[in-house]
Amino acid sequence: MLQQTQVKTVIPYFKNFVKKIPNLKVLSNSKNKKILKLWEGLGYYRRAKNLQITAKILIKKHNGILPKKFEEIKKLPGIGEYTANVLLALIYNQPRIPFDGNVKRVFSRLFNTKLEKNENRIKSIVNEKFYTNRNGDLAEALMEFGAIICKPNNPKCNICNLKKSCYFFKNKITVLIGNKRQEKEKKYNIYCYLKKKKREIALTKNKNLSFLRNFNIPETKIVTANNKKKNGWIYFCNYKNNISNIKMNINLFYKFIKNKPKNYKWYPINKRSNEFIPSFTKKIFKKIAKVYSQEISV
Ligand code: SF4
Repeated sequence: MLQQTQVKTVIPYFKNFVKKIPNLKVLSNSKNKKILKLWEGLGYYRRAKNLQITAKILIKKHNGILPKKFEEIKKLPGIGEYTANVLLALIYNQPRIPFDGNVKRVFSRLFNTKLEKNENRIKSIVNEKFYTNRNGDLAEALMEFGAIICKPNNPKCNICNLKKSCYFFKNKITVLIGNKRQEKEKKYNIYCYLKKKKREIALTKNKNLSFLRNFNIPETKIVTANNKKKNGWIYFCNYKNNISNIKMNINLFYKFIKNKPKNYKWYPINKRSNEFIPSFTKKIFKKIAKVYSQEISV
C-alpha cells in the first residue's frame, strides 16, 4: 500500500484491510472484487491484484511462508529489489539495506556520493560502520531517519548525531538526490459517452493509462497535435488531477448516444455501483453529473 502513497493516507485503508482480510488464506480465497473494493480510493490497483496473486503463490508453493532467499522473493509479482530487501531485513533480520529515496539521500549526503554509481562502495561502508545484529531495526531506522531528520529540504542537521562525519554538513552544500521526481504536466482529453435520460456513462477497460490499466474509465487520450478530435464532442470543463507524481491537466468532453460503443458498459452516474470504480473515474462521474443538472437541452 505504501508504494507511491503517503503513510497518513494508507493508515485507515491498512487498518480496515487487515480487519477484513486478517491472513494469507483469507486473502488468497477472497474474491478479487472484494479486494478491489477495500482498495478503492487508494489508487495503483495493480498492487492489490499482485498482493492477492502473491498470497496464492505463497500458499500453493511455499506452505504459506515467505521464502528466505532474495531471488525467490523477487519472483513474486509486484516485488522488486527494494521490497525484497525490506522484507528480508524486517521479517528475517537479514543484513539488507533497502535503498529507497530517503536512504539514498542520507548516504549521498553523508559520503558525497551518488548511490547509483557507488552502490557497492556504500554497501561495504554500511557493513563496516553500521555493523549490527539488529538488521531489521537498522533498515527501518535508516528509512525513518531519511524521512524525519535528513529530509529532502531543510534537514535537521543541528540535532543529527552524524553531523561530525557528514560531508553535506561540513561543506554546507545541497545534495538533492532522492527528491521525489515530479513529472511534467501532461494534457489529457477524456471523452464521456452519456445516456440521455438514465444518467449513465459508458466505461471501457483502459488500455492507455499505465497506472489504471484494465480498470473502468471513459475513453482517455493524451493530447497530441494529431488527436484533437471533434466529431460532435461537446467540451464541458477543464480540471487538474494529480495521481502521485503524475500531473494531469484534463479536458472533459461529452456526447449523448443511444447505443453504447463496442467494448463499453453502462454505469449509473449517481448510484453506487456494485462494481469497483477507481477514484479517478468517480471524479469524472461527479463532474459530468452536472451536465444533467444544468438541464442542457438535448
Ligand atoms: S548532518 Fe544533516 S545532512 Fe548530514 S546526515 Fe545529518 S541530517 Fe543529513
